[in-house]
Amino acid sequence: MKVFLSADMEGTCGIVSWPETDRSTSFDYSPYCKQMSAEVAAACRGALSAGAEEVLVKDAHDSARNIDPNILPRKIRMNRSWSGDLLSMMSGLDQEKFDAVFFTGYHAWAGCPGNALSHTMNGRNNQVWLNGVLCSEFLINAYTAGYFGVPVAMITGDAAICEFAKQLIPAITTVPVNVGRGGGVTSMHPAEAVERIEAAAQEAVKHARECVVPMPEQFHMEIDFVKHHVAYSKHFYPGAYLKDNKVVCFDSNDWYEILRFCHFVLSNA
Ligand SMILES: [Zn+2]
Repeated sequence: MKVFLSADMEGTCGIVSWPETDRSTSFDYSPYCKQMSAEVAAACRGALSAGAEEVLVKDAHDSARNIDPNILPRKIRMNRSWSGDLLSMMSGLDQEKFDAVFFTGYHAWAGCPGNALSHTMNGRNNQVWLNGVLCSEFLINAYTAGYFGVPVAMITGDAAICEFAKQLIPAITTVPVNVGRGGGVTSMHPAEAVERIEAAAQEAVKHARECVVPMPEQFHMEIDFVKHHVAYSKHFYPGAYLKDNKVVCFDSNDWYEILRFCHFVLSNA
């Protein structure tokens, strides 16, 4: 069994403000960078102790140079920085065969009150819709896993994204470390989060096969941009169209084409 782990930061235990996620603000960032690494290490330890042979860790936040590999167990490899391929936070999943995907540090979608830092890919959109559902990075990355036939077995992060994940994939193992309310957060003790994530990863390996992602046959994405001129410029992507002055739409029955649209229109807005 080989695990692919995509690690974000805004759903790390205790995080509630942007400087805590930004490596240029060392005073705020440093303890949360350590906690992010500790949570990833716990997920790797859990997976390995339950029988996984290897974990490929994708550092998937901002610079993608956050996690300290020194505290991770030996049987890991790490994908750092951004290759520029369409898989983005899942970069590497298409390069070899994996048996399970884990998400750590994940967060609620743009417009969701479940995390003070909720967003979808960046702050240049108000919200993103996918087949009529408000779209999170989790949903995009889960469909990418589904596209490559890999089950999504675990997610850790805020309670809102964990709850959403349970609805999409009932057998998924979740560890909600934070509960957001307005601009604030109620979090568990960071050491408790680490302990629970390690135990959850063991469970997740056992239940991985039950965690198949249900793939829609058709995809319709709408991006509500903050600025009308960005929407205008982006609607020239082949096949895209404007719904109104700020909303760009795209349709495909091929998830990889949605990823291509996201790469040029959503992520690089
Ligand atoms: Zn992030």
